[in-house]
Formats: sequence, structure tokens, C-alpha cells
Amino acid sequence: MTKINIAIDGLSGCGKSSTAKAVAKSLHYKFIDTGAMYRAVTLYFLQHNVDLSNHDQVVNALSDIQIDFEFNQESQKNETILNQQNVEQEIRKMYVSEMVSPVSAIKEVRVAMVAQQQAMGRDKGVVMDGRDIGSVVFPDAELKVFMTASTEVRAKRRQAELAAKGEEVALNEIIANLESRDHQDSTRAESPLIKVDDAIEIDTSDLRFEDQVQKVLNLANNRIEKAE
Ligand code: C5P
Repeated sequence: MTKINIAIDGLSGCGKSSTAKAVAKSLHYKFIDTGAMYRAVTLYFLQHNVDLSNHDQVVNALSDIQIDFEFNQESQKNETILNQQNVEQEIRKMYVSEMVSPVSAIKEVRVAMVAQQQAMGRDKGVVMDGRDIGSVVFPDAELKVFMTASTEVRAKRRQAELAAKGEEVALNEIIANLESRDHQDSTRAESPLIKVDDAIEIDTSDLRFEDQVQKVLNLANNRIEKAE
């Protein structure tokens, strides 16, 4: 069967990754969470005290970073590996969320990540979620989805996810983080978050998870048929 690439962009915390993962599983495609890649870079920069305003330090640090994904049978999840170390839990913590937008606004960081992401999608059969997938990484993706949800719904979902991992965070702190990332991600000079004209918008505020996955799958099957 012909394979396509699926780009899922949208605001922070509206369920892009969980949807992309479920869609990929159903289609037997590869799922790539590009937010995890920017989070891994951020973690490395924090661990090595990289000065974000120092171009040489940023470029040197990037040349020392290797990011991979490894499927964990137990959690049935693709986990993020930074220089051979599993950082899946660490990169989801609030202190990383608080620094990831300034790091991902740096041009050199984006150039390095986009090159890796494009290589991952070269043979098609990829569901990739992020902020610039439909606009920059795969402008020719056969299906582009732009996901949104109200801030309150997104914050409650994020709070539940963090609580499930033992991190209790107040709702207003999460709302402030989501709003600040939305703002920084949408207004930065380098590949800001935008809804491209050929993306299909899905508001997940009132959708059940299964329904949002099914919507994307229906669109995907339609595009696969067209591509054949
Ligand atoms: O998807 P997630 O919320 O984990 O992404 C974390 C951050 O990584 C975003 O707030 C954004 O700053 C950055 N990001 C990006 N481009 C992408 C994916 C994520 O700039 N394609």
C-alpha cells in the first residue's frame, strides 16, 4: 500500500502526540514526537550550562547531541534517548517545559533538528507532531492537521498527565506555562507555529480521545487512497 506522511501541528498540550502515536500505531507507521527532540536539546543545554546567547557554545553543544527513539515494550511507548541515556521522564518535567521555547527559537537548534526530522521521513510512512511540520519539515505532507483546544482543557489534561507521573503542579502554573509557550512559539522569527492553508483544523476541546484519533484516521485513509 502507498505510504504517506502525516504532519500534526498545533498548540501546546492539545493532544497532538497522543493522537499522532495512536494514528501511527493503527496505520503501522513510525511516530516521531519532535517536541521531545527540542526537550532533549533543552535538557542537554541545562545540564551543561550552555549560554543561549553564545553562538559558539550552542553550536558546539549541538555537535555533541545525539537523539534517538527506542520502543519500550513494557510502556508500549517510543522513549527519547539523549546520548545513549533514556531521558523520557526527565524531559517532561516542568523545569524543562519552562526553558524549551527559548531553546527551540534558536536558528541553529532548528536547522539541526529539522535535518534529522526530514531524514526520518524520507521513506514516508511517518506521523510527526510538532509546530512546524506542515510548514517547514514536510511542506509536501499528504495530510496536514492543525490541532487546537481551549487553554483550560489543555491545562487540565497536562495536570493529569504530570500527576500520573507523581509531579503535582498547580493549574495556574500550567496555564501560565502553556500560554507563555503558545506566545513564544507563535511569535518567534524562526519557523513560528502557524496554521498553513492546506492544514485541516481539529478542535479537540469537546472531543473524546478515540474520536479525535478516528477523525485523523479517516482523513489519512482518504489521502492514502488518493495517493495510490
Ligand atoms: O510538543 P511539546 O509541547 O512537547 O513541545 C515542546 C516545545 O518544543 C514547544 O513548546 C516548542 O517550543 C518546541 N517545538 C518546536 N517545534 C516543534 C516541536 C516542538 O519549536 N516542531
